[in-house]
Amino acid sequence: MATKWENITLYTGRGEKFRESAIVVEGGRIVAAGDEAVRMTADETVDGSGKTAVPGFFDMHVHLGMDGDADPFAQIEKDSQATAAYRHYVNGQKQLKAGVTSVRNLGSKWHIDLEFRNAVNAGLMAGPAVYGSGQAIVMTGGHGYPFSTEADGEDGVRKAARSTLKAGADVLKLMATGGVMTPGVDPGSPQLSEKEMRAAVEEAKHAGKTTASHAQGTEGIQNAVRAGITTIEHGIFLDDETIELMLEYGTVLVPTLAAPYYIVQNAESGAIPPHAVKKAVHCFDVHQESFRKALKAGVKIAAGTDAGTPFNLHGDFAKELELMNAYGMPVRDIITAATYHAAETLNVHHKTGSLEKGKTADFVLLNGDPEDGIGAFRDVHAVYKEGGRV
Ligand SMILES: [Zn+2]
Repeated sequence: MATKWENITLYTGRGEKFRESAIVVEGGRIVAAGDEAVRMTADETVDGSGKTAVPGFFDMHVHLGMDGDADPFAQIEKDSQATAAYRHYVNGQKQLKAGVTSVRNLGSKWHIDLEFRNAVNAGLMAGPAVYGSGQAIVMTGGHGYPFSTEADGEDGVRKAARSTLKAGADVLKLMATGGVMTPGVDPGSPQLSEKEMRAAVEEAKHAGKTTASHAQGTEGIQNAVRAGITTIEHGIFLDDETIELMLEYGTVLVPTLAAPYYIVQNAESGAIPPHAVKKAVHCFDVHQESFRKALKAGVKIAAGTDAGTPFNLHGDFAKELELMNAYGMPVRDIITAATYHAAETLNVHHKTGSLEKGKTADFVLLNGDPEDGIGAFRDVHAVYKEGGRV
């Protein structure tokens, strides 16, 4: 049965916007969107006056096993496998309700994100489409080791990459530098070397998968880019040379502006470990500056929140979009960064990521038009995944 939403404002996710437009959906697919849909008749017609349709959002950096607890690594160390699995489910529901129909999960202990993905795909439970890394790959004692596989040397990292791919990872997550949350680890200092990361990137490519690198300091970012990584996560210290390198390699930036924002906002709470607050405050301004520079230079950007880090809650995807806008990104480009660019980065853009004929019917109806006010991203009227209302 075909359903038509008419009188809507429609953003395709690829830069176009149509007013007084329509979308027709049948059997979980988009039959038509835009002018063709306006002319079409359907079994059921819904008046969407005042509503704006955008493709289902992709949050390209989440931790479904973390709740936004002030000290998430302590929480991970305490959780049993069952508790961790329940967290994945509950946080997945929160994402879905906020219009996030796809998540890229970058780091889950025991590869629980992959089990969650399988359960959703099998129809056992509702949830967003999950593209998971399973356990991240880090050097011994490296950033994020509580949810990671520790590996050293090219052979060691290659072995870890192969094991993670064997477990069913869609993407390999590699730690190129230290980070904010791990004590005694400096965000600026390199961790896995270029050669180590290259071994993992090669294995991912052979398996037809992509890679992501937690990379905050300049040297580590450059190592990851030269190793052929698909995405740089955070990219806090980006200088002109590094930006040039990213353009040359076609590396995508996932800035996760919300992560340091929420730590700095809650610095006075006393709950976040002091070492993390100190590092986040130090990173905050320079991160903003790096984002502005990358944007201006034309680095490809995909939206991701790092949800699960302190006070950075699942279901608050709009915050990242608001920050991107506050730091100079136009709304139309933000929509692309949160949809089509994300799908392209995951290599799934032929089937999802935009409102176009033949694509999966993942879409969100907003109560307002974000070009009239950025707050519209948080005013979600309805979410549809594969044509079904969430
Ligand atoms: Zn993260």
